[in-house]
Amino acid sequence: MEVHGRRVTVMGLGRHGGGVNAARWLAERGAVVTVTDLADESALADSLAELRDAPIARYRLGGHCDEDFRLAELVIVNPAVKPGNAWIGIAEAAGATMTSEIELFLNASPARVVGVTGSNGKSTTSAMTAAILETDGRRVWLGGNLGGSLLGELERMTADDWVVLELSSFQLARISGESRWPEAAIVVNCTPNHLDWHGDWQSYIDAKQRLLTGQSAEGLAVLNTRDPEVSRWKKLVRGRLLPPLKDEDVPPLAVPGEHNRHNAACAAAAAIGLGCSPQAVERGLTAFCGLPHRLEAALEADGRTFYNDSMATTPESVMAAINALGPRAWFLVGGYDKGVDYERLIARLANGARGAAFYGAVRNKLMALASGLSTHCEFYACDTLHEALAWCWRRSQAGEAIVLSPACASYDQFRDYRHRARTFIEAARALTMRSA
Ligand code: ADP
Repeated sequence: MEVHGRRVTVMGLGRHGGGVNAARWLAERGAVVTVTDLADESALADSLAELRDAPIARYRLGGHCDEDFRLAELVIVNPAVKPGNAWIGIAEAAGATMTSEIELFLNASPARVVGVTGSNGKSTTSAMTAAILETDGRRVWLGGNLGGSLLGELERMTADDWVVLELSSFQLARISGESRWPEAAIVVNCTPNHLDWHGDWQSYIDAKQRLLTGQSAEGLAVLNTRDPEVSRWKKLVRGRLLPPLKDEDVPPLAVPGEHNRHNAACAAAAAIGLGCSPQAVERGLTAFCGLPHRLEAALEADGRTFYNDSMATTPESVMAAINALGPRAWFLVGGYDKGVDYERLIARLANGARGAAFYGAVRNKLMALASGLSTHCEFYACDTLHEALAWCWRRSQAGEAIVLSPACASYDQFRDYRHRARTFIEAARALTMRSA
C-alpha cells in the first residue's frame, strides 16, 4: 500500500510499542500522520520520547477529535480499541481504510510468516517454534503480541528469513480481508477469555478462527486436537492440516508440565511441515529453557522453590501449573476479576494443591467457591499479595513449592504482570532472608 502523502490517523499510541512503531514507519514513508490517544501527554511520556525525532504531523492527546477520523484516508487501530467504537464508525462512514500495525507488517514483510494463536501458551509455542527454526539454520524474528512490533526491523529482513508472529484475538480481529496472511498457522487452544472486549464467546472464537480462514490453499495449519474446541475447526483449514506430534515423539523438555509438551508438539509439527530436520526439532526443543514469568523457578530459598507464573492470567493456565507441580505446591491466586468462571479452578486446587491463598479484588468470590468443599487443601483469603505469600510460607515445609499463579489480571493492585512478579520475588527474598 502506498502511504506517501496520505492522511493517516494512528488511533491509540499506547505503551507497548505497536503504536509508536506504526506512527514512525508511516511518517518516515511520507504519510501525513496524526497520532491520537485518550491518554494524555504525561501518561504517554515514554512512547512520545521514542517518537521525538519522527516526522509526525500532529498529536491529539487526552481525547479524540471528529476531524481526525472524518478526514483520514487510513486509520491504524490499536488492538485495545473495542469493536463498535464510535470514532471508527465515523472514519468508516467517511470511507477511510481501517488497518492495524500487524497488517502493515504482514503486507510489507518480505519474510515468510508463521502465525501462532490460542488462549494460553501462545508466547511459549511461538518461542519454541522460533527456537526450532533457528536450530535448523534459518534467520528468525519473533514478534507480534510477544516482544513488540517488528515494523522497525523490516529493512533488515529478507525473503529467506522467517517471522514467528504471536497473534492475540484482538490483533486477529483487526486484520482485514485484504491482508497478506501467515502461510503457516498454529492454534494451541481456545477457552473463554477477554469476553469483555469481544462481547461474547462466539465473537472470540470467530477472531481466533480468522488465522485459519484467511489462509490460502498453499498454507499449512497445526491444530491442537487435544483441545476440544480447536479439534472442531479442522474443516476451516484451507491448505495442509497437520496434527501435533505424538507425545512419545516429543523429546524431554527443560520446562515443566504436560501443557508445555503439548505446546512443543504443536511447534514441532509446524516446523516439520516447514521442512525442518528431526534433529533441529529435538535440539531446539531440548535446549529451550522457557520464557520469564511463565512457571519460572525464580528463587530457591529456605528449602522452598518460588515459582513466578505472573503471566498466568486465566484459570486454565493455573490448572496447567497445578498439573505440573502437583500436590506439594502452595498457590497465590488473585487480582482483578475478569468475569470468567473460577469454579473448575477451585475444584482443581481442592484436589490437586497443598494450599491456596486468595488475595486482591477477587478474593471473596474465590473463598466463597472454596468454602464448603471437603478437601485436604487449605484455603485462606487476605487483602494483599504480601499477606498471601507470608501465609503460604508459614504453612509450607521444606521441599515444597510456592507459586504466584494469579488466574487474574493485575491492575487492581499492580501496574502490570512484571510489577506483580517483582513484588512477589522481592517479598519472597525478604521473608526467607529474615528467617535464615
Ligand atoms: P499466552 O501468550 O497465550 O499468554 P504464555 O506462553 O505466555 O501464553 O503463557 C501464559 C500462561 O499460560 C503461563 O502461566 C503458562 O504456564 C501457561 N500456559 C502455557 N501454555 C499453556 C497451555 N498449553 N495450556 C494452559 N496453560 C498454558
